[in-house]
Amino acid sequence: MSAECVCPRCGQDWVRRYRFKADGTPLLLCTECDSLWWPDETVGIAQAHFLDDVVAARLGVAGNPWSDRVWADVIEPAPDSQR
Ligand SMILES: [Zn+2]
Repeated sequence: MSAECVCPRCGQDWVRRYRFKADGTPLLLCTECDSLWWPDETVGIAQAHFLDDVVAARLGVAGNPWSDRVWADVIEPAPDSQR
């Protein structure tokens, strides 16, 4: 797995490995600007997704998915990201 890198969009935080709690799907996330990448994508500005959009799509909700849930309900740090 590639090494962690600084977020190319905001430059303020590391891109870290998380996973969806529901099914364990891995993702890469910058918690500073909520940019999301899938593990098989290049971590770049052009490839960046927005966490809210991805979560809303997965949950089948329109608009802001955080009105009745928090990040910890949906995603968690990948257990092997602490090496
Ligand atoms: Zn960022």
